[in-house]
Amino acid sequence: MGKKDRLPRGAGMGLRMVDGAAPVPIEEIGAAPTGPVLLEGLIVDGNRGMYRVETSAGPILCTIRGRLRKQLVYAKSDNTKTRKSVREVKVKGHDPVAVGDRVRVLPSGGGAGTIEEIVERAGGSFTRHDPNKGGGKVTSIAGLDQIVATFAASEPTPHLRVLDRLLVLAEAQEIAAAVCIGKADLGIEPWLAERLAVYRAIGYPVLVVSAVTGEGQEALRAQLAGKTSALLGPSGVGKSSLLNALQPDLGQLVGGVSGSTGKGRHTTTGTRLFPLDGPAGGYLADTAGFRSLSLAGRVFEQLDWCFREFRPYLGECRMNDCTHLHEPGCAVREALRAGAIDRDRYDSFRRLRRAGDETIDLDTEG
Ligand code: GDP
Ligand code: ZN
Repeated sequence: MGKKDRLPRGAGMGLRMVDGAAPVPIEEIGAAPTGPVLLEGLIVDGNRGMYRVETSAGPILCTIRGRLRKQLVYAKSDNTKTRKSVREVKVKGHDPVAVGDRVRVLPSGGGAGTIEEIVERAGGSFTRHDPNKGGGKVTSIAGLDQIVATFAASEPTPHLRVLDRLLVLAEAQEIAAAVCIGKADLGIEPWLAERLAVYRAIGYPVLVVSAVTGEGQEALRAQLAGKTSALLGPSGVGKSSLLNALQPDLGQLVGGVSGSTGKGRHTTTGTRLFPLDGPAGGYLADTAGFRSLSLAGRVFEQLDWCFREFRPYLGECRMNDCTHLHEPGCAVREALRAGAIDRDRYDSFRRLRRAGDETIDLDTEG
């Protein structure tokens, strides 16, 4: 059924803007410039109102124009031809931009500038609870093409319910997901090898890597090439070690924005993107500070769709509004009985459906 084939496309998932690719209308060619020239770039680092923006003219350390922090609230009856009247100005409690957003910058010389415009957000984004303000959600990172759900072969034992939640997070935003199992040098136990085969069978790339022996690193590099990715997973699984193995010159970036405030990188909660070497380019997000992520509400509207192996059966159930939990004539449960859908994956679905829980706790126990 067509309706269930795709998620409704939310705001912020519009067309990806390609640098300099916008066609120029004929009548504008040769026209006098109408304002200052803004440089488009990518926010790769940000902390306390200062942002590092990579542009074609190099990195620019930026503040943000005050009006971009304000949300103009218009009077309700303003769908007329008359001038819009601003009823209220709300100052946003948090940054209107995140690392991974594309913005337009007015350079002021000396490697400094101001963010003047925000390009419509594209790709995936994560929100999490604001660590500073106790409540409220902040967008930590935007513009993602891919989530790499990262766990260790052991120490700690991989928590596959968390993996399933991360995969749902990717599916809900229609971005790619891959599974990365680190510390491969500790050995992959048979039960884990069996589980990994299930993820491979439903189409997720599974990369088995070691930061110690170098095993699998080329495959991981290839998986990341040309994309903006985030390694997400519990602490202690070896994410930082993998980042360092992939990009030994990572240290050079340390001090980007935080350096200007004299603070060490690891004392901040900032997120940053660092460019990957190689002809294809790409960026990798530093997600060291991530402990929990929010699942957007719409995940729960089409949770079944977010389990990609369920998709062939959606629309085949006897009930139109089948929850796939207990209804007669449920095609998903029929597939489960027939062995076409994995039981543990179905259990993850059922738990998420029942919990309706909007948080992924990366360091959750058992
Ligand atoms: P993170 O919290 O996910 O960033 O994990 P770290 O990179 O800090 O690593 C956690 C611990 O696992 C450290 O003691 C590392 O030395 C160890 N570790 C990381 N990668 C590997 C690996 O590939 N093999 C083994 N045996 N240990 C690793
Ligand atoms: Zn059903």
